[in-house]
Amino acid sequence: MSETVSFGYAEVSPEEKTQKVGEVFARVARRYDIMNDAMSGGMHRLWKDRFVARVKPQPHETILDMAGGTGDIAFRMARKGAAITVSDINPAMLDVGRQRAAKKGIEGLTFIEQNAETLTFADKAFDAYTIAFGIRNVTDIPAALREAHRVLKRGGRFFCLEFSTTLWPGFADIYDVYSHRIVPKLGKMIADDEESYRYLIESIRRFPDMGRFKAMIGEAGFIQTKAEPILGGLVAIHSGWKI
Ligand code: SAM
Repeated sequence: MSETVSFGYAEVSPEEKTQKVGEVFARVARRYDIMNDAMSGGMHRLWKDRFVARVKPQPHETILDMAGGTGDIAFRMARKGAAITVSDINPAMLDVGRQRAAKKGIEGLTFIEQNAETLTFADKAFDAYTIAFGIRNVTDIPAALREAHRVLKRGGRFFCLEFSTTLWPGFADIYDVYSHRIVPKLGKMIADDEESYRYLIESIRRFPDMGRFKAMIGEAGFIQTKAEPILGGLVAIHSGWKI
């Protein structure tokens, strides 16, 4: 891995990035869900529905929802009857997830703290691996992709939902103003935390484009890799298959 990595628009050491990302999510955990609705006008719910429809969880399957945070993807998949392990590096995000699961009466989820780069699960343990709005926060992305490949069974599916780069002219400019000027202000208003939301927006800009990220998934050993843009690529679903 290179000596420095991006933390938003800043270059920091890998250790510093992991620590700073940890601080961001520890700070935003309690307000994370309300901010998602505010920032996306509720659209993140539709993207997550579409993502889970692509995963097609089956009742007999075991699925790892990595960087699962407060549980949005895991809850949708659990409703389809799959056995879900929700993993995240951040205990504050997992705590909110546990509380939300209890409130919603969703049972049978396993919550476990894990770093996506160094999973403690056995080889070939899962039928599918999902990661939504998580991978861009991971310090060593190739390591996380290799770990995803390792813990999947043969025939296992990898799915990633992440912000990307919209290719629609005009929309890109509006989005730029919205994300750089308005989102940090919303963060200030709703979560009293402008800095964390500035990081979240900057991290979107530093994330590899759809083609590059698709290639990275292939480099980790997956085949039939795909990138499916949503809203011209503002958000994308990447997938791959382990054989
Ligand atoms: N998947 C959830 C969703 O879609 O609402 C949460 C996404 S949240 C934007 C990103 C999550 O990635 C945070 O909960 C953060 O703690 C987690 N994360 C960051 N780095 C990680 C790592 N190295 N391993 C596991 N989780 C990580």
